[in-house]
Amino acid sequence: MMSDGFSHSNAFAAVADEIARSAPKGVLLDLDDTLYAYGPCHAAGLRRCHERFTAAGGTLSHESFCDHYGAARERVKETTRGQAASHSRLLYFQRLLEGLGGRTDIGLTLELETAYWGGFICAIELRPGAREFLETLRRLGIHTAIVTDLTARIQLEKLDRMGLAKLVDFVVSSEEAGADKPAPAIFLLALQKLGMKPDEVVLIGDDADRDGRGGTDLGIRTVIIDK
Ligand SMILES: [Mg+2]
Repeated sequence: MMSDGFSHSNAFAAVADEIARSAPKGVLLDLDDTLYAYGPCHAAGLRRCHERFTAAGGTLSHESFCDHYGAARERVKETTRGQAASHSRLLYFQRLLEGLGGRTDIGLTLELETAYWGGFICAIELRPGAREFLETLRRLGIHTAIVTDLTARIQLEKLDRMGLAKLVDFVVSSEEAGADKPAPAIFLLALQKLGMKPDEVVLIGDDADRDGRGGTDLGIRTVIIDK
């Protein structure tokens, strides 16, 4: 958490003050639940999925559909934990439908994945102060790398949707690095892309383990934002 002691209107204003003071060469920045609130987007994605599922003849209530989703998610994670694929909605929906129908429903699996991310992306909203924070970094000449678990395709789409495409220098996904946070590979790849050392950057994220431990284990100064 940021220490108190200076006034701020949002979490990013506080971080920007701190960055301006410590003047790092670069900032590593988490995406999900740092730059936007994940929960409402996920809920919107699942709602749109359930609508598509129902239109295709599915008879589960929304609550039951979400329960099946959660169970399928856990089964996928049993074989993919620590990899970007462990977050794959495509695999979750494939497993969910296999559990219901006893076979891989290729067409509906693809449709549910499209519906989920469509609903998710439509609901995405930048956190207050996030854009101003990135603009401040630009103004200060501080380079940025987004460091994010999940596959590159959807993470790039989220950043594009939020209008941040021109405000970040690099994106590093766990798909590209080969492992989710807090494994060091993703942070090391970001440092390599930036051409910087651990003590030249600050890492900002929302998760004390994935971001906090991942960064500090490498000697990176880490700030966990107050959501
Ligand atoms: Mg996060």
